[in-house]
Amino acid sequence: MKSYLCLLTLLSASFGLLAADGQNPSNAERSQDDKSATNKISKTYQAGSGRYQIVIDTSNAPDLTKWADETLAPVAQEWYPKLVQMLPSEGFEAITNFAIRFREMRRGIPAATSRGGVSCNIEWFRQNLKGEAVGAVVHELVHVVQDYGWGGRTNNANVRRTRTPGWVVEGIPDYIRWFLYEPQSKGAEITARNLGRVKYDTGYRPTGNFLNWVTETYDKGIIAKINAAARQGKYEDSLWQNYTGKTIQALGDEWRETNAKRLGIDLAQLDAKTASEAKAKKEGWITLFNGKDFNGWHNFKTNTVRAGWQVKEGVLVCADPHNAGDLCTSNQFGAFELELDYNISPGGNSGIMFHVTDEGRSAWATGPEFQLEDNAKAADPQRCGWLYALYQPPQDPKTGKPFDATKPAGEWNHVRLLVTPEKCEHEINGVKYFEYVIGSDDFKERVAKS
Ligand SMILES: [Zn+2]
Repeated sequence: MKSYLCLLTLLSASFGLLAADGQNPSNAERSQDDKSATNKISKTYQAGSGRYQIVIDTSNAPDLTKWADETLAPVAQEWYPKLVQMLPSEGFEAITNFAIRFREMRRGIPAATSRGGVSCNIEWFRQNLKGEAVGAVVHELVHVVQDYGWGGRTNNANVRRTRTPGWVVEGIPDYIRWFLYEPQSKGAEITARNLGRVKYDTGYRPTGNFLNWVTETYDKGIIAKINAAARQGKYEDSLWQNYTGKTIQALGDEWRETNAKRLGIDLAQLDAKTASEAKAKKEGWITLFNGKDFNGWHNFKTNTVRAGWQVKEGVLVCADPHNAGDLCTSNQFGAFELELDYNISPGGNSGIMFHVTDEGRSAWATGPEFQLEDNAKAADPQRCGWLYALYQPPQDPKTGKPFDATKPAGEWNHVRLLVTPEKCEHEINGVKYFEYVIGSDDFKERVAKS
């Protein structure tokens, strides 16, 4: 998700400065810019019947002047007064005079609002002129109007002021931008791809989506009320309950449920999956297959993946065994614990080879193999879960044959393979088959006989 980083601390500190010197502080800054720019290019635009003056300065990027004049300025002139009207509060008067300046900024920050003015990253705007450029400025104009330092300047110093959380500070501009300024772009949609990662307080676009939902579902005027409280230094999470009858947590859950229903997703299942992935990552597990592409994989002794291997609905599939070959991880592992689920076709024969190197002519020349096959129909006498030609599980007294914990072809089976210098273990569907030690006398004897 692309997100706009705004300099929040500067936002409030700088508006404090604006009040302190009582004039547009951009004059001081502008003289600094003058030194680096050869020719000053700055134009003042009137907005709101002359009530507001917006300076657009492209001295450092003359190539953006035409776009700023023809495309950006009309939007700023139309939307700044609108935003002021949308976000009123008692006793508050929005800044009447500020600048939008194009300057060199750190990569990754499209724009920022500070010291009563908007700074736009020249490089980012050059690359996004036809896309998100104007909307990014609309987002910043909302910050100019929010002016959440206002309460600090006007309130009695003895009154306790609350800090407005970042998700509200950034959610309101993204709500206005994506749902009022450019709803046709659908830039803040909740989809099957992002539902697992979003919460009401994620900030930016997801929060913008949440705020739109609360507005449409509960209270058309809630954004203005929340904004007014934030500006006065009185924001509390309990406000949501005052205005809607539901806690912010309950609203957030309901919003996600509504989206899950619309998308036909089982939310409990999705959240369990997200939680287990997060836990696995925290515990040091590495996800070998990302469910999307072959990143981290290649065919034996190549840098490519043959067409017989495909990703279908998040599953790694051998769709054409005649054009597949052995697939290898790009990362190398010494001691490891591997867990995976497999589903084999009738008569299928496959396997998991480990410690494979590029030295042999085939993958099996260097790597021992955890055999995978359809025990019912495959021709190979080496059965599923065995260490190929070396180890097999003990006899099952019920059948008189080596133990078999596999499910029939077409069903999912879980594999656990532990490989460490101390011991190795093979498990199928939670049933341990055997253990062995690579390089032990017993192991060497079996290799010699194989
Ligand atoms: Zn922002």
